[in-house]
Amino acid sequence: MIPTPFEQMVRMLARLPAIGRRSAERIAFKLIRQNETLLTDLTASLNEAHRLLCSCSRCGAVTLREKDPCGLCTDSTRDPVICLVEDAADVEAIEEAGGFHGRYHVLGGKLSPMKGTGPGDLRLNLLKQRNGEEHIREVVIALNTDVESDATAHFLRDQLAPLGVRCTRLAFGLPAGSGVEYADAVTLSRAMRGRSDWS
Ligand SMILES: [Zn+2]
Repeated sequence: MIPTPFEQMVRMLARLPAIGRRSAERIAFKLIRQNETLLTDLTASLNEAHRLLCSCSRCGAVTLREKDPCGLCTDSTRDPVICLVEDAADVEAIEEAGGFHGRYHVLGGKLSPMKGTGPGDLRLNLLKQRNGEEHIREVVIALNTDVESDATAHFLRDQLAPLGVRCTRLAFGLPAGSGVEYADAVTLSRAMRGRSDWS
């Protein structure tokens, strides 16, 4: 008989992205193993994060509670171009990759009839408000390439069209270090459609 607190911990862990029931159980067993300080350290770290961190009230990226709006939003040297992403982790990925010096807007999800996520669940009104306040020149839609993200991207384009702001989308191409013969048909046809002049 598994004690209720253990089951509760497993259920909470299984709510995290990419963690299934089996993985959640493994993690829970690891955390409560005797002579491990991991659970204590993790609890302290989570409490600290809860106390100090929040989502930026403007763009949705992770920031310190004492610095809201975040450094990206308040950096006056950033271009008036907004990169629209699904979640806050995407902001970090694009920043680390370099090559973009605009601002961000985290949607907080994508349209998904399966999960019951509709237009009202996306931070879209805030984006429209920002467009008016920040004199945005361009919105770059940087969503994933799965079917739901694709539908979301088209929906966003239709929503942004009446605002008169230029709307672009990340180019689709071949993964670095990969060969043409290994690319799937969708990637290959999109890469062909999105081909650009040599630069
Ligand atoms: Zn921000």
